This record gives sequence, C-alpha cells and structure tokens, in this order.
Amino acid sequence: MFFSQVIGQDRIKQQLIRAVEEGRVSHAQLFLGPEGCGNLAMALAFAQYINCENRQTGTDSNGKVTGDSCGKCPSCIKAQKVIHPDIHYTFPFVKIEDKELCADWMKEWREFVLQTPYGTYNDWIENITEGNKQGNITAKECLEILRKLSLKNYEGIYKVQILWMPEFLDKEGNRLLKMLEEPPDNTVFLLVANDSEQILNTIMSRVQIVKFARLADEDVAQVLERDHQQPHNQAVKIAQMAGGNLQEAIRLLDIHEDANTAMIREWMEACYRQQVKQLFAWNDKFLKLGREQQKMFFQYCLHFFREVMLIQAGAGQLAKLTDAELKTAQGLGQVLGVEKLMGIIELFDKSIYFVERNVNGKIMMTYVSVTLLKQFQKNYQPTRPFYDRWAL
Ligand SMILES: [Zn+2]
Repeated sequence: MFFSQVIGQDRIKQQLIRAVEEGRVSHAQLFLGPEGCGNLAMALAFAQYINCENRQTGTDSNGKVTGDSCGKCPSCIKAQKVIHPDIHYTFPFVKIEDKELCADWMKEWREFVLQTPYGTYNDWIENITEGNKQGNITAKECLEILRKLSLKNYEGIYKVQILWMPEFLDKEGNRLLKMLEEPPDNTVFLLVANDSEQILNTIMSRVQIVKFARLADEDVAQVLERDHQQPHNQAVKIAQMAGGNLQEAIRLLDIHEDANTAMIREWMEACYRQQVKQLFAWNDKFLKLGREQQKMFFQYCLHFFREVMLIQAGAGQLAKLTDAELKTAQGLGQVLGVEKLMGIIELFDKSIYFVERNVNGKIMMTYVSVTLLKQFQKNYQPTRPFYDRWAL
C-alpha cells in the first residue's frame, strides 16, 4: 500500500512522514477513527514506508512535506504482497479446529487487506465464518506477539506489529503492556481501532493516539468516480449517504444497482395494476435468486421504502436516492399513504428475517406479493401488523 492509495487524511500522512524523516517514530501508536476512514490502509502504507529502502521524500510547491515508498525495492514488494517477514498482523479471528493463531488465518487475511483495505470488522468476520460467531484475540495470540517481537529482525529496518481491532483484546491484552512500554529496538506497534471506549485503559494509556476523521464526501465521491465508474452526480449522492465511510459507499453502490431498481419497479407496477399473473411470474423470477441475493434485495426495498416515507413526510430533499429511483419513489408516495408505507416497511423487515431462517420461499413470496397487491387497492384498509396472520 502506498500513501498515495490512502484516500484523503493528508494531515496524518504528513505527520507520519515528518516523524520518519526526523527520526522520531513513536513505537506505539493507535490509529483511531470511524469505520471506513482508512486507518488500516494508513497502517499498511506506513509499515511499507518505514521499511522502504529507497523512500521518496520531498516538499511540494506549497512547502508541504511529501513522501511515499518506492514500491520497487525488495522490502516494498513483500510489503505490498502482505508477505514481509518483519510486518506482523494480529486481528480478531474465530477459533476453529486447527486454526488457533492469526498465522493460521494469513491466507484469508492477505486476501481481505488486499481487496478491501477499507473493510470493517463485520466484513472480515463474515468473510471467514458463517453464522453469528464472534471474533476474538486470544491469550495464545498475545503470547505469539511477544514471541515474534522478541526475535531479531529478518531484513526490515523496523519490525512492525499491526494490531487491528484491539477492541477485541480482553484482559489477556495486559500481557502486551510491557512490550508496548518498552519494545525491543526498532519495533513499532500500530494499533488500528474504531472505538476507544472498548479498548483496555491500560493499553490506551501506553499508546500515542493518532485521530482519524471520517472521510470528506468529496474524497469518497472521487473514489467512486475513479475506481467504480460512477457518473459524477451519482457519486456525490452516494458519498453523502455513506457519511464518510468508504466501505459503506461501496456497499451502497451494490444495493443501488440498476437491476434492483428495475426489479422493484416491475414488482410495484404489477401490484399497482393488480396484475396477479404478472405478480406470480415476478415471484418465480425472484425465487431463482440465491438466498443472499434475496436478502440483499429486501434490504434494498427497506432502504427504498424508508426514502418513500421521507418524501411522503415532505422531506424529499433528504431522500438518498438516485434520479431514476426518485421518480419511482415519488410515484409510489402519491399512491400509498403513511400507514400503508409503514406496514410495507415492516413486511420487508420481517421478510429478511424469514429469508435468513430459510422458510419456504414460495409460501413466503405468495404472502408478500399478495399483501403488497392489496395495499394498492384504493379502498383497502390496512390492518397492521401484517405478519400477525402469517403462520409459517
Ligand atoms: Zn521501497
């Protein structure tokens, strides 16, 4: 990872580069900031930079310090592939069978940081496990950190320990205190966290805190335009929705895909026109999607109808919808009253619950579609909650 690949956060980049150039790299730092702000990306870039054999530094025309790793020396090449022998990683993981240490999860970790350096804890855990398992950084892993760091450097200038999500260190984290206070020479601890409240006080008091702000909307929008081929207006809109969280912006891109919009339009049209045959044909199409996709679609529906509610409430200027979506949403807002909309939102919410629990799709979708169809009948008085009568 290069500094140039880390989005925004210029002040922190300069601060880090200056510390290296002036030979005063702090040996225990906490990169603290909200999800999607890029603190892990920054830690990767910093670890690569301090071990680069040919650092490129200078000052720009405004007198600002600039710098980055060369990307070509043997150290950079290994750092970029996440295989540098002196850059160590610790992260929360799930203990299964023979996987008891982070070292056992390196293959998955490597993929994760290379593909989604802005990924969140949830992204990571969902990647490596199924169900609602909780990640943890175990006592055994803490001992492993101590062991690794007491070995001599292989080839790097610095030995770097990146510890992602120290929030998941319980009391066993206290084993690290002495190491944080007095690490061996040329050892740098980079803790990367979202929530200082969840970190042991004993650790907090031993690290230098580097505070990351959420990303600016313009910066997020620029990435969406550049790397995800979004038209400018759409990129700006989605960036605003994501609230400075790049990973969230990318997720929103997915759920805003045109396919979803088209699908919802087709569905609602059949309901509006009371076309039962088309409605069941739509159901069949829906049921061919995988479970994960069905869930995504319902999540999109939830988001979409919440925005329709906003429009209904006269707060349309706050609606987080693209232009194409807005047109459909306004149309629906005119046809459906607040009470029906509330019921529909509940219907989607419950549908996600049932998809997750693997209920019979055909029964569920018949119920969902017919319930929706009824909402579009002029004289239909909704009785909430819909699911009261649903015996699945
Ligand atoms: Zn280099």
